[in-house]
Amino acid sequence: MSIEQTRPPHGGHGDRGITVLLRSMHDVVAEEGSAQDRLDRLTKVIASHIVADVCSIYLRRPDDRLELYSTEGLKAEAVHETKLDWGEGLVGLVAQNHRPLVTENAPAHPSFAYRPETGEDPLRAFLGVPLIRSGKTLGVLVLQNTSARRYTDEEIEAAQAVATLLAEIAASGELLSQEETEAVGEMLHRPERLKGAGVVPGIAIGRAIFLEPPTPKHKVFASDLAVEAERLEESLTALRASVDKMLSENDKLAGVSREVLETYRLFAYDRGWKDRLRTAVFSGLTAEAAVEQVQSENRARMMQARDPYLRERLQDLEDLSHRLLRLLSGDEDGSSRAMFDDSILVTRVMGPAELLEYDGGKLKGLVIGETSSTSHLAIVARALNIPMVAGVEGAMVRAEEGDTLILDGAAGELHIRPTAEVVESYKAERKLQSERRFAFTQERELPPCTLDGVDVKIMMNAGLALDMPHLHDTGASGVGLFRTELQFLIGSQLPSVATQEALYREVLDLADGKPVIFRTADIGGDKTAYYMEQGQDGNPAMGWRGLRMALDRPGMIRQQLRALLGAAEGRALYVMFPLVTLPDEIDQARALLDREIERRERQEKALPSEIYLGAMIETPAAAWRADLIGPKVDFLSIGGNDLAQFYFAADRDSDRMQRRFDGMNPGFLGFLKMTVEKAISANVRLSYCGEQTADPLIAAALIGVGMTEFSLPATSVGPFRRQVRSLNRSHIAEWLDARLTSDSVSLREEFHAFLQSNGVDFE
Ligand code: PEP
Ligand code: MG
Repeated sequence: MSIEQTRPPHGGHGDRGITVLLRSMHDVVAEEGSAQDRLDRLTKVIASHIVADVCSIYLRRPDDRLELYSTEGLKAEAVHETKLDWGEGLVGLVAQNHRPLVTENAPAHPSFAYRPETGEDPLRAFLGVPLIRSGKTLGVLVLQNTSARRYTDEEIEAAQAVATLLAEIAASGELLSQEETEAVGEMLHRPERLKGAGVVPGIAIGRAIFLEPPTPKHKVFASDLAVEAERLEESLTALRASVDKMLSENDKLAGVSREVLETYRLFAYDRGWKDRLRTAVFSGLTAEAAVEQVQSENRARMMQARDPYLRERLQDLEDLSHRLLRLLSGDEDGSSRAMFDDSILVTRVMGPAELLEYDGGKLKGLVIGETSSTSHLAIVARALNIPMVAGVEGAMVRAEEGDTLILDGAAGELHIRPTAEVVESYKAERKLQSERRFAFTQERELPPCTLDGVDVKIMMNAGLALDMPHLHDTGASGVGLFRTELQFLIGSQLPSVATQEALYREVLDLADGKPVIFRTADIGGDKTAYYMEQGQDGNPAMGWRGLRMALDRPGMIRQQLRALLGAAEGRALYVMFPLVTLPDEIDQARALLDREIERRERQEKALPSEIYLGAMIETPAAAWRADLIGPKVDFLSIGGNDLAQFYFAADRDSDRMQRRFDGMNPGFLGFLKMTVEKAISANVRLSYCGEQTADPLIAAALIGVGMTEFSLPATSVGPFRRQVRSLNRSHIAEWLDARLTSDSVSLREEFHAFLQSNGVDFE
């Protein structure tokens, strides 16, 4: 197969060859005749331009099978006879994977499905390209040759260009009869229920939005070339102006780094890009179809690139193309991100900072590629009360912008386009849950004391001023962990001392006398700020983060300590350092605090009434030496998310790892018990602030190993209080003690049964 190799009248290779082909396809679509006639003529045109022994088009049918609709080269009797299931054979695989498939020897491929009626016996080389529109596969274009050969990148690109156009034509209803087009549309839009992993509990009912917006519907072929060329020119000018504007206003633009914008600008002004867009328009396409055409070529080219930098830049080009399409559809600056009042965001990846930039009032749920419940994204989502599910295979392709979605963050389920009955039943469940929450609020004054008289202290985790009202409606006795870095992650600049001081003062005011433990910024790992130098660590979670960064570059932490001292003047100040590893680090950190205290004294400014210093136990090294770290501070707090990550050497963000190693592992619980004992021997207070306590079994087990102070996500405070009041600590301790040395993977099931038989309450 080659493009235009043997047909000189149509021009030469490459872009010109494709241009001629696309123009011929345009002529065919404009001709009279039935849909089948047009399709057969298209197949002929493609086959005659792209010199392959076989060119076939398979289309997706209402029964979700792929049917051979037209062919040049296979036996004519096979048309409408050969049908493949989704995922069956090479054609089914291309459709299912949404990716081209190239092989030199099709019969040797493990997925090959032999279809004798097609007469494909002598064929070897195979190239299948999906026809994709709005993320949905509408069919497959197949090219085959008798010789075992490898198709060139240029040939694959050409086939993709043709497939993109075929998908557009299919979506506009030109390839099937109107009834069939509608039936396929219905099939693609039927209700679906997908299963993933629950990350943040809660029920969200809303409409799908994507980080990458969908392509607006548009015509494929131009009726007036000059008009289309003009539209392209205007939108390109507007695009360049909007990128220039973004660069000049970069200060205001949280979330987009200067480097990214500079790359945008390079692309936006790229001569080659513009030339290719113009060429596509002059081949007879509308400006929109030209943008898609060129983008699909770019995609094909860059996906093959070995250079990872180049592959990453694909994202920038995709974004620019989307902006251009939005400009062509009349959107002012191509950057508007319309949201529904009840939006559920579906995305493969997202950082915690990006989530904070969304309109809190409108974002009701989050569907993400992969993350675990202890990731920082999950922590932010929980703080914002946004239910979240992860790992829902296919959500990106099966849902469309604007589809109704129901997300059940506890069960890890996602319903796409649910029926009215399903919506109603979830609404009822949501009401029930809010009633349950209300019942917990009613119990907020009840003392969290176990049946055998052990007083438990329940505090709450927070990170934003908007978390603070929960302190009162949950009845938590204080904030046991205020994650200050969330404020650092939001903006495009390091917040000034005054901005930080204002936030901390507001938080203390809102706490209304209840203690707030401010954890100094734990930046690094998965929490990187846009303006910060990116670490070069291969394992950022174990790299330059937390206290390590603060001690090496004390400028930032000194500013933060200054802001905290100012905000707490005349009141008690609790400061805690993250990711302590060695006792000596505490001495260094305390010296920094002392310097700031002296500075204030020199300036004759008032100091906090008392200052308490704490260390987080988040590394096994610190847990092992808790008895040495303890005497250097006023309190310790176990950051169980990190501690478990390092204990098991298992990424806290990886759902797969989280499923593999359970916090109910007897070894881990024994290790925590040892830490409690070391804290007791050092006579220092110890609390537990990892998110695992949202799991009632782990929370109860922690009480069993001797923990009495906790800081939990706000939503877990009520259920935990009720649980504490229903359990007997000494019984649990006895039960656990007998099992801490066991080699079982997890005590979960046994412990569940034990608690249940003892009447312990857990939600
Ligand atoms: C922890 O690691 O358990 C913790 C509380 O800190 P963070 O989750 O913010 O890392
Ligand atoms: Mg931590």
